[in-house]
Amino acid sequence: MPKSIAGPEIERLIQLLARLPGLGPRSARRAALHLIKKRDQLMTPLTDALGVARDRIVVCSVCGNIDSQNPCTVCTDQKRDPSMIIVVSDVADLWALERAAALNARYHVLGGTLSPLDGVGPQDLTIDALVARAHDPVVKEVVLALNATVDGQTTAHYITDLLHNANVKVTRLAHGVPVGGELDYLDEGTLSAAIKQRTPI
Ligand code: ZN
Repeated sequence: MPKSIAGPEIERLIQLLARLPGLGPRSARRAALHLIKKRDQLMTPLTDALGVARDRIVVCSVCGNIDSQNPCTVCTDQKRDPSMIIVVSDVADLWALERAAALNARYHVLGGTLSPLDGVGPQDLTIDALVARAHDPVVKEVVLALNATVDGQTTAHYITDLLHNANVKVTRLAHGVPVGGELDYLDEGTLSAAIKQRTPI
């Protein structure tokens, strides 16, 4: 057993920080020490921000995004194109696409992907709500922005079948060479998908 070098309060702070994604025990220790040293500049505002987030953050009842208002800022943004719904598995993917700022559309967060091995079935995701939204006459295109994994692609096929009767075009993200990527470093799957989906110049 390693010797304890701090009281239980500090150890608890370190243990909680270590549960955050991307933080191991060592970086959690560093983060805890940093917070303690910067009590006024960082720890107090962080504590306040966490309290506000805990009390105010809700899941959007339309798209599944998280925000401090329901419907969320994205769903109520009148400048967004209502004819396109981008389907993502997680809020993190929604944020990633928003950072890319490629499309000015609305979203639908599934809450995961179908995974028979992990016991995740259609009833565990917001697929029914998506199908209902896709039947709104204003919606013309559903973009399946799902992971290029077996589960992601299984989910994409499943949703495509369900949307057969909806009057929408169903599209998915292109698979291909990353911007700045060198061909020699790509895995065979990516390279093969990129060459099959080549586009005219
Ligand atoms: Zn929303």
